[in-house]
Amino acid sequence: MSKRYGRHDSPAVRHLDLAVRRGELVALVGPSGCGKSTILRMVNRLVEPTGGRVVVDGRDTARTDAVALRRGIGYVIQAGGLMPHRTVRQNIATVPKLLGWDPALTRRRGDELLELVGLDPWAHGDRYPAQLSGGQQQRVGVARALAADPPVLLMDEPFGAVDPVVRDRLQGEFRRIQRELRKTVLFVTHDLDEAVRIADRVAVFSTGGVLEQIADPATLLSAPASEFVVDFVGSDRGLRRLAVTPIRAEDLERPLVLAPGDGAAYAATALELDGRPWAVVLDGSGRLLGWVPRGALLAARGNRAARVGDHVREFGTRIGAHEDLRSAFSALLAQELRFLPVLAGEEFLGVLTPDVVHTALRRGLPPA
Ligand code: ADP
Repeated sequence: MSKRYGRHDSPAVRHLDLAVRRGELVALVGPSGCGKSTILRMVNRLVEPTGGRVVVDGRDTARTDAVALRRGIGYVIQAGGLMPHRTVRQNIATVPKLLGWDPALTRRRGDELLELVGLDPWAHGDRYPAQLSGGQQQRVGVARALAADPPVLLMDEPFGAVDPVVRDRLQGEFRRIQRELRKTVLFVTHDLDEAVRIADRVAVFSTGGVLEQIADPATLLSAPASEFVVDFVGSDRGLRRLAVTPIRAEDLERPLVLAPGDGAAYAATALELDGRPWAVVLDGSGRLLGWVPRGALLAARGNRAARVGDHVREFGTRIGAHEDLRSAFSALLAQELRFLPVLAGEEFLGVLTPDVVHTALRRGLPPA
């Protein structure tokens, strides 16, 4: 599709060919004025393309009544775009009402959606938008877009107007909602970190709606396809990749594992062979008890009664196997130890160290 606003303007979008899969969240990123909002608005015909076609679910949108089309596509904009003289419930009921839904059903659905986006229907349902915080307004905006359960959502800088802490929370919650609902979402943002955090694929545009690259977040950050994308993702893309790199069991260090009943002398010798200045201690059923420093075992090795169990120290922090490297590394940096245990439920998988982080990040990079 293409869009030229004025006859003499250069095109806002030139010959864009983009396919989005059902249930996929694609983030559109790029510098201001590159055509992101125009692309989004051509989907629900708030902007009419001057060339090409937009096909939603097999149907050419130009042949669909624009009003009917918009009712079937949720649209979320910055600050929620709520109607100020309508209550929260009335705002959410906008499309169901237009569709002629039963009022009791509409209300029930509205309350369900408020709960879904983390608002209490009793406390917030009858308030006016001005009586809500920015983050709450944004939540209502999402609830309203979901009201008639549209298969497609268009989101234009939806979390752009809230402070970073609230934005972080909204992103997390939106990810959870999207995992559950699996809408087909186009999400415009100028914030690359937001894009890589929430999107299945990220589309990077340059001026004129030129698609420079579309890829999953890890690929975008590890293998930018053009100079433009390299500049856009920034020289700190290595750090950004932390957030999109999962912890893999095979990358973790497997230290020496001791049992609490092992003798100190035996354990000290085993550790000398292992080479690490510490070992991990698991009980008979494989439960993680903590770790022991080699120094303590060496000091106790003369005492035949001394056991590993007498010298165990607890880990202050444990990492879940589902976490990403960013939060895991951050936990590692927040403490004095240079290693942290990673667990899948109760099962001990190995330890995370700075070296592990480096190995995991290097994997997947194209050879230099
Ligand atoms: P983005 O969302 O990436 O910031 P936009 O889609 O808003 O970019 O704008 C793309 C280009 O189209 C810009 O050059 C902008 O000035 C122009 N543009 C956007 N809307 C209009 C409009 N209604 N009339 C004329 N030009 C417009």
